Amino acid sequence: MNIIELHQLSFAWPDGQLALDIPALQVQQGERLFIKGASGSGKSTLLSLLAGIQIPRSGSLRVLDHSLGGLSARARDRFRADHLGYIFQQFNLLPFLGVLDNVLCALTFSPSKRARIAGDPRQEARRLLTALQLPAALHERPVHRLSVGQQQRVAAARALIGAPPLVIADEPTSALDSDNRTAFLQLLFAECERQGSTLLFVSHDAQLEPLFDRAENMQLLNRRPTC
Ligand code: ADP
Ligand code: MG
Repeated sequence: MNIIELHQLSFAWPDGQLALDIPALQVQQGERLFIKGASGSGKSTLLSLLAGIQIPRSGSLRVLDHSLGGLSARARDRFRADHLGYIFQQFNLLPFLGVLDNVLCALTFSPSKRARIAGDPRQEARRLLTALQLPAALHERPVHRLSVGQQQRVAAARALIGAPPLVIADEPTSALDSDNRTAFLQLLFAECERQGSTLLFVSHDAQLEPLFDRAENMQLLNRRPTC
């Protein structure tokens, strides 16, 4: 089954600075796809379409068998909360909340994610944080008192909790050195595999490409040249 099925998708920001015109993109269930491309080439814009944050101007976009262009803003928010895990480049954690509460936030708006957790959600949050190598001694600490690398693990655990079928990661490793990047990716891969999540990972760092099943280049995907 294809998790993402995109045809003749077009999108433009109102000021005309970036336009996307992508003939086709498919992502299969369980795949680990790397999307590379220079800064400003539209990687984050594409992710915002796949997550239903923005809607295409034209074309067809199916994610997990939902046609996102046909859903209301409210339905897209629900879709995102239930089916997606999203690791933002700047993590978007709540700085004064503790680590566990940041992870559990992902369940607040999603009965589906909560239902996919067999036992106690707090235990599952702890399990994920530990699997991502954030020591238990830090699990109650406010996230603003963690290092960037530690915050990244919290952001990953928040994206993974509730076993979303699609995990999207927008350059989450850009603040790390290369040894840490590879180690973090291996942990992310292992958890995605464990819970059956498809992973879409975006980065300008082409060195990470060989670790993935497949790679796409944003500049080649998009028929429109970027300004
Ligand atoms: P990348 O993630 O590859 O660095 P982005 O998708 O973030 O690229 O941005 C590509 C271009 O899209 C930007 O240079 C800007 O012109 C435009 N853009 C991105 N976000 C917005 C926005 N929220 N409003 C208007 N234009 C935007
Ligand atoms: Mg970006």
